[in-house]
Amino acid sequence: MALVNEHYLKLAAGYLFPEIARRVAEFTASHPEHAREVIRCGIGDVTEPLPPSAVRAMQQATAELADRATFKGYGPGTGYESVRAAIAEGDFRSRGIAVADDEIFLSDGSKGDCGNILEILGTGNRIAVSDPVYPAYVDANVMFGNTGAALAGGGYEGILYLPATEANGFLVDVPDASAAAPDIIYLCSPNNPTGTVMDRTRATRWVEYARAHRSIIFWDAAYEAYNRGDAPKSIFEIAGARECAVEFRSFSKSGGFTGVRCGYTVVPKELKAYTRAGDAVALHPLWTRRWNTRSNGVSYAVQRGAEALYTVDGRREVAALVDHYMENARILREGCAAAGLRTWGGEHAPYVWCRVPDGLDSWGFFDHLLRQARVVTTPGAGFGRCGEGYFRISAFNSRANVEEVVRRMRALLAR
Ligand code: PLP
Repeated sequence: MALVNEHYLKLAAGYLFPEIARRVAEFTASHPEHAREVIRCGIGDVTEPLPPSAVRAMQQATAELADRATFKGYGPGTGYESVRAAIAEGDFRSRGIAVADDEIFLSDGSKGDCGNILEILGTGNRIAVSDPVYPAYVDANVMFGNTGAALAGGGYEGILYLPATEANGFLVDVPDASAAAPDIIYLCSPNNPTGTVMDRTRATRWVEYARAHRSIIFWDAAYEAYNRGDAPKSIFEIAGARECAVEFRSFSKSGGFTGVRCGYTVVPKELKAYTRAGDAVALHPLWTRRWNTRSNGVSYAVQRGAEALYTVDGRREVAALVDHYMENARILREGCAAAGLRTWGGEHAPYVWCRVPDGLDSWGFFDHLLRQARVVTTPGAGFGRCGEGYFRISAFNSRANVEEVVRRMRALLAR
């Protein structure tokens, strides 16, 4: 008898984005005359074409594969050396952060990595996440057996939810000393969904906390390219982080690779986890082994495309893409504020987080905006209990759409 992974059966109703898609499909089916007017600012998917340098590199790589003299078969499971070197140099060493080439592990994107990394850690680790949170962290831990059952009011038994609220500026701080310390802490900066960025003082407190409790920080920097201020772009800017942190990076939102699929994880050689007997075990060899056993790595052409983002032209093109979305974020942030909404984020992140006007909850306001303004946003409640009362607008769109969204929201909220 084949046994099922019963942890999957604990997963609460639909993942957030399918539910949004269902509501939009229902609306357009019942109002086909408005279907073409719908503007999607819900899911955080990029809209602009790929940087030309990446396109050329992928075309060139495909041509190499088409020629017997330059053909390539299986590559190294953890990524081609030149690509790992370009990343380690471009994202870290050139900024004074010590990361070795072989501490970079290429992948098909960081959503997978945030869950896959659990394979090299024991079951039963106590997980901490912010609330609201990017839902993939939680679901991956449910599937892996790190939680109990779904709770009636949202969330799962056994997870430590750290409230991110107006009171703390939507930035989570270390738990107080009386709480049992979590073993694994997911921190996302710039943050999805709130668009806030963790300052250096808080990040330092987290590193000190993790070291003191022999916990591990999973630092998700998928939106690092949008952080143009003084806040840390990498957790490895903080002294001591190499002993207590893993960092996830993605080319999805910097190079527009959401469809191409490429990201990477940094696992420092000093990082250790413990056996039940208390013996320290280095994670770098385990993660290397995991990749070489479970995958043959990322496609050659895609890796060449990612590498091209580090050339002089590639960097300029990435900066221009990020500029485009950041200007959208500014227009949305200022437009929402002018419409009378309280807003956060959108300054060093492609998301603007807004308080729902009085009298509606976050799904109620989602439906209202969809029906009355034909604008799709993401209801805060979909990201956790503390997200109730807020909604997220994504800046990933064309300029014309963003301006139209602001115009429609101002008109709707002025009524
Ligand atoms: N981490 C966060 C916080 C995200 O918002 C996303 C995507 O939206 C990802 C990771 C996943 O990125 P990728 O496309 O690399 O899988």
